[in-house]
Amino acid sequence: MYKVVVLGTGPAGLTSAIYLARANLEPLVLEGPESGGQLSLTTEVENFPGFSDPIMGPELIETMRSQAKRFGVQFERGLVKRVDFSKRPFQLNVDSLGEILAESVIISTGASARMLQIPGERENLGRGVSTCATCDGFFFRDKKVIVIGGGDSAMEESTFLTKFASEVRVVHRRNELRASKIMQERAKGNQKISWSFNYTPVEIVSDGKKVTGLKVRNNDTGEKEILEADGIFLAIGHIPNTEFLQGVIDIDKDGYITVEPGTTNTNIPGVFAAGDVQDRKYRQAVTAAGTGSMAAIDAEKFIEANK
Ligand code: NAP
Repeated sequence: MYKVVVLGTGPAGLTSAIYLARANLEPLVLEGPESGGQLSLTTEVENFPGFSDPIMGPELIETMRSQAKRFGVQFERGLVKRVDFSKRPFQLNVDSLGEILAESVIISTGASARMLQIPGERENLGRGVSTCATCDGFFFRDKKVIVIGGGDSAMEESTFLTKFASEVRVVHRRNELRASKIMQERAKGNQKISWSFNYTPVEIVSDGKKVTGLKVRNNDTGEKEILEADGIFLAIGHIPNTEFLQGVIDIDKDGYITVEPGTTNTNIPGVFAAGDVQDRKYRQAVTAAGTGSMAAIDAEKFIEANK
């Protein structure tokens, strides 16, 4: 029986863990398949306060983890399969640990890469299709790559990929980018990046072994063409990791956990949500960390009130 179980090891989960451990609540932190969350898949972080020079995402996460360990936080690898939040203590079924009990739970399971759901995509993951430029960019030295998307991630990934690839083409479904001005300007100023606006990806083309191109439809004319590429990087956003909570807790139509505004309270007293799993708007490492601290404080108050 744990006082608090924290699900996830991104900035939200790790910040919760630090706060809870310092409040002597001896949290258990469950580490899922995407350890460290999205920060561990990113390159330089320039906007997390406290670092006057850029810090690499994985290093930032590792530092948070060491900080949590210093206060004695217990980490276990494990994926939550089912939860029973209908009575207290809450029950969690974890693949590696079996049933565990918790007085309160903080859900900070983050979000995973969105897929296009087009032919050729799944079967070519790892054969030219990637959801992580930081992880796979190295394999595309002197090759042609395409980045799909028009947000900050697409800008960041295309800029990063110019370190390796001979050509980087951004393919976006509209005429206008969604990305912030500074990220747009950085990408637009990079000579290695070219742009295909108003194209919808319809198929990943391969020779049976590896990716050779992307079939796109011109949204004005309806005509289809194949853009040659050795690598295709998806940067089209993320989906909150809440599948195991379907029907258990209030979730909106896109899968984000609903919290009471200004708090981390879900509709179930004692269950709190922090980070990208409940945030469709800000989705920053620092906001995730901020809501992580809020969840720890909310959990502490809940435990105190329900002694
Ligand atoms: P995002 O802002 O949601 O952008 C997703 C992009 O993918 C959009 O341009 C969208 O097109 C496109 N898209 C979505 N579904 C698609 C589909 N099925 N087919 C084709 N295109 C599709 O996601 P993000 O870029 O990952 O950014 C998420 C959040 O993280 C944002 O708040 C962002 O500011 C932040 N972020 C910040 C940094 C940084 O500051 N260093 C870096 C990365 C991310 P539409 O525009 O037409 O909707």
